[in-house]
Amino acid sequence: MHTITMIPGDGIGPEISEAMRRVVESTGVKIEWDIQEAGADIMDKYGTPLPDHVLDSIKKNKVAIKGPITTPVGSGFRSVNVALRKELDLYVNLRPVYSLNGVKSRYDNIDLVIVRENTEDLYAGIEFEEGSKDAIELIGFLKAHEARMRFEDAGISIKPISISGTERIVRFAYDYARREGRKKVTAVHKANIMKHSDGIFLRISREIGEKYPDIETEDRIVDNMCMQLVQKPELYDVLVCPNLYGDILSDLCSGLIGGLGMAPGANIGEDHAVFEPVHGSAPKYAGQNKVNPSALILTSVLMLKHIGEREIADKVFNATRDVIAEGKHVTYDLGGSAGTSQMADAIIDKIKG
Ligand code: NAD
Repeated sequence: MHTITMIPGDGIGPEISEAMRRVVESTGVKIEWDIQEAGADIMDKYGTPLPDHVLDSIKKNKVAIKGPITTPVGSGFRSVNVALRKELDLYVNLRPVYSLNGVKSRYDNIDLVIVRENTEDLYAGIEFEEGSKDAIELIGFLKAHEARMRFEDAGISIKPISISGTERIVRFAYDYARREGRKKVTAVHKANIMKHSDGIFLRISREIGEKYPDIETEDRIVDNMCMQLVQKPELYDVLVCPNLYGDILSDLCSGLIGGLGMAPGANIGEDHAVFEPVHGSAPKYAGQNKVNPSALILTSVLMLKHIGEREIADKVFNATRDVIAEGKHVTYDLGGSAGTSQMADAIIDKIKG
């Protein structure tokens, strides 16, 4: 019996989580779900969107699967998703992107994996509000060090990229490439401009690449990488990226395979793993039984592999793949008229044979 923390999330989260849970349970796998609430809806009750007992549950169970959680833009509480990654030191964000038959897309041969660093960079949460005492002090410090700013009425976000943080993510990317029989790792950076942060990322990526002679190593500047991915995605295999570029490129790559409704993901650390789709809470579709549950169901495939249930994972993957390829019981984004729960039912029928 596996005990897994399940965080349904908000927006479309609860309905896709329910679909995923039913699909996984239909395989007969022995999972006990430890259901935990996080996000805006529980702020009133606990005064925080991420109560300690949610974190404690993941710490105890080691594995969690979550639906998306809304983050207020600009003000309000910080992202629960970012907080989880930081608290549990989930330094890897793994986002496989692959084409499936039946998904309308401009490309049909995509098979990429994005390995995104998850704890550093502009997402480290080191921010100073415009006009605050700390921001004024920091600007004073910068001035004293000849780092002048054109305008002083600035909010400031700091971008730390460390040798240690880069080493562990790049090593993960190469080990993953080796384990999964992949051929090439491309490091993505902007070291020509950010010499002391992205510069480290590039240097360490090259150094570690030399230790894996069986895997091809290359690097690309992020803007060129965007163009290359749109023009010749088939040339790429595993992409290892600092946090911000990894986030942006994974949405770009989701677009290559037919949208966010299809993109699974995992956040992995030394001791814990939290599985979640790439997409957000799509509030405008919440409660309508309309959105595509595939991203979360394919996310559960990653989770099942992680807990050693490879055969069950294959069953869920194959059933989802077949339902999508047939195109009869699929959601609006895949050109069908099925609801979230009907698509899940069709996947369950396949699993049960
Ligand atoms: P979003 O991913 O929620 O939605 C963007 C659009 O993508 C939707 O309007 C919809 O057209 C499409 N889409 C997304 N998921 C889909 C699905 N399963 N099926 C079909 N179509 C789907 O992005 P957003 O609107 O930028 O973000 C909404 C909220 O989600 C924000 O508060 C954001 O912070 C949050 N968010 C959370 C996570 C997370 O929990 N890990 C990730 C990204 C965004």
